[in-house]
Amino acid sequence: MNVSDYKCLSCGANMRFDPTTQKWVCDYCGASYTKEEIIKAYGTDENLKNETEQKLESDYSCYNCPNCGAEIIMDDTTTATYCVYCGSNAIVKNKLKGKFNPTKLIPFKTTKEDAIAAFKAYKKGKLFMPNEFTNPINIEKISGIYIPFFIYDCDVESDVNIKATRVRHWSDSSYRYTKTDFYNLSRAATVHFENIPVDGATKFPDDIMNSIEPFNYDELQDFSPSYLSGFLSERFDIDKNQLFEIAKVRATQSSEQAILSQVTSYATKTIETRNHKITENDTSEYVLLPVWMLNVKFKEKMYTFAMNGQTGKFIGNVPVDWKKFWKYWTLIFSGSLLLTSLFVILFNLL
Ligand SMILES: [Zn+2]
Ligand SMILES: [Zn+2]
Repeated sequence: MNVSDYKCLSCGANMRFDPTTQKWVCDYCGASYTKEEIIKAYGTDENLKNETEQKLESDYSCYNCPNCGAEIIMDDTTTATYCVYCGSNAIVKNKLKGKFNPTKLIPFKTTKEDAIAAFKAYKKGKLFMPNEFTNPINIEKISGIYIPFFIYDCDVESDVNIKATRVRHWSDSSYRYTKTDFYNLSRAATVHFENIPVDGATKFPDDIMNSIEPFNYDELQDFSPSYLSGFLSERFDIDKNQLFEIAKVRATQSSEQAILSQVTSYATKTIETRNHKITENDTSEYVLLPVWMLNVKFKEKMYTFAMNGQTGKFIGNVPVDWKKFWKYWTLIFSGSLLLTSLFVILFNLL
């Protein structure tokens, strides 16, 4: 059984996951099945799991991009002719070596058509977008890619000292007064965090990912390779412990914010000293999150448009083409100049 493991129950052809119906569909005979129906047909979920896990590591394809260094995983039914990160056509297709073992994933809920529609809506408000971004050939390159994340659960015990002030103003007939009182406050709290996501792929820009968050983790499914058909995927290239350091920073920052938000009725409040003890729960997981992505090169720099594959939230950092901008204003300017001279000529004639 190959990676795109779910075979059609009526004709035996490979099936693909359909984001719109959240079912597996057979393009050959048109049949479609829910996950439950497939599991039922295979006997038990365990049977299915064993069968898919046996080939997990050796049966994936991938391409390597000599231009930008990307390594992108896909199944046998999915083809790639250019690199999703840099657009290069010089990609080299290989069999995947090494581990790729996510435990869960959030399946795509939006389609490529949704992503293109979102991009077109985004484009509408941007009059001076470079032509590279309006070229239909480039827009077609929007790709669905699963980005690997660790999601951490942890507890943060915080002890903080806060310097706070209260300010009072009043005046009499001769003076205005300001009185500032200084306070030293200490606060302690234990905050439980669930699902702190940390991006495990170096190539995917963190700021873009932060902008299209949040994901709804209630919709996490057990990983099955068949979710990959038609989509690309990245795998981890950052060490799990290194990633936990990033999760820790996010957790302690949120914990401090939570504590400060409880300190009310002061004019100013700043944390002077802090002490955090962080315990990671072993419920942390390696998951894949769905993202639609378009990378376009403009003046030797890559620009990204990305959309959350689950919620449809999107972000772009597409630049302004100043040449286009000036051309536009020059046209308007010369247009009005022409009108003015026309009036002057008419006036002189009368
Ligand atoms: Zn079929
Ligand atoms: Zn590349």
